[in-house]
Amino acid sequence: MPYTPAENRYEKMKYRRCGNSGLMLPAISLGLWHNFGGDTPHETKRAICQAAFDSGITHFDLANNYGPPPGSAETAFGEILRTDFAGLRDELIISSKAGYEMWDGPYGEWGSRKYLISSCDQSLKRMGVDYVDIFYSHRFDPDTPLEETMGALDHIVRSGRALYVGISSYNSQRTREAVAILNDLGTPCLIHQPSYNMLNRWVENDGLKDTLKELGVGSIAFTPLAQGMLTNKYVGGIPEGSRATQGKSLNPDTLNEATLASIKSLNEMAKERGQTLAQMAIAWVLREGGITTALIGASKPSQVLDCVGAIENLEFSDEELAEINRLSVE
Ligand code: NDP
Repeated sequence: MPYTPAENRYEKMKYRRCGNSGLMLPAISLGLWHNFGGDTPHETKRAICQAAFDSGITHFDLANNYGPPPGSAETAFGEILRTDFAGLRDELIISSKAGYEMWDGPYGEWGSRKYLISSCDQSLKRMGVDYVDIFYSHRFDPDTPLEETMGALDHIVRSGRALYVGISSYNSQRTREAVAILNDLGTPCLIHQPSYNMLNRWVENDGLKDTLKELGVGSIAFTPLAQGMLTNKYVGGIPEGSRATQGKSLNPDTLNEATLASIKSLNEMAKERGQTLAQMAIAWVLREGGITTALIGASKPSQVLDCVGAIENLEFSDEELAEINRLSVE
């Protein structure tokens, strides 16, 4: 079936300025880490992307290694760009990253100029695009001078391969150093991508959240639903087909008694707010504008629609925030 985007898509979403930049991002973005590899039917991938775009989600987040196999998520998204999203490139913000192991040998991971630039070229080829909107250093490399990694990002922008650059999972101190180098080079750091959710608050403990605010760098929080734990999915046990059953990144042992008790209580609290737990978890990440956009994943279109409902209520009373602190077991 040919796809026609919903005409009212931009009325359904809130758009927030990314740090001090000119770029507005949707409050909710879609990541293609899981469910876009060779183990998922292409029709499912299309349906998820269509549901997202119809809901006003303009930002799709990828990385060189998303799959399995690595690279296949970019290939699948490239196919969607050529078919369903043909003619829509200027309405989309596409990101990719390099940092984790992508190919054999000494040039296939971490933060060298050699790896970042060749990986970016491979990503462009897989997706069939001339440029990505945002290109990230996926992780800090302790053995490569930060000047080299940031210099590679600067070159990627100057050579037309990306419009903006970002960093992912860098701590507060490394972020300050990276941002200073990029500023000197004249390619400001647009965005930082850290993990952040009610059960994982390292960005608060490390000071990163405050640092980003101070530096005027935007932020995109990955795994806002703690890989699905902060939804009603696991409240009654571990359902077949869920991420926790797939031997992937979510170890079922994480769903221990204490965490399940915490999830159940948070689920009750969400109900009292008139939200699903997924909606409350996303609203919590986005509260008070501290984070620009929540980067969700989804295995079906209905999950995208549920998550987008979060933007109807992003407000929390002081009492509710205190209650969430009490109930969340990190
Ligand atoms: P989430 O925390 O949003 O978890 C997504 C999972 O939660 C889905 O696959 C689904 O699980 C479940 N889910 C989503 N919505 C609902 C709902 N409404 N109701 C019930 N269950 C729901 O994020 P991810 O862990 O998927 O990560 C999101 C993105 O973040 C990635 O795709 C990637 O782009 C980025 N990322 C970046 C990293 C980095 O190092 N920079 C590292 C990891 C992720 P199920 O599949 O079981 O149905």
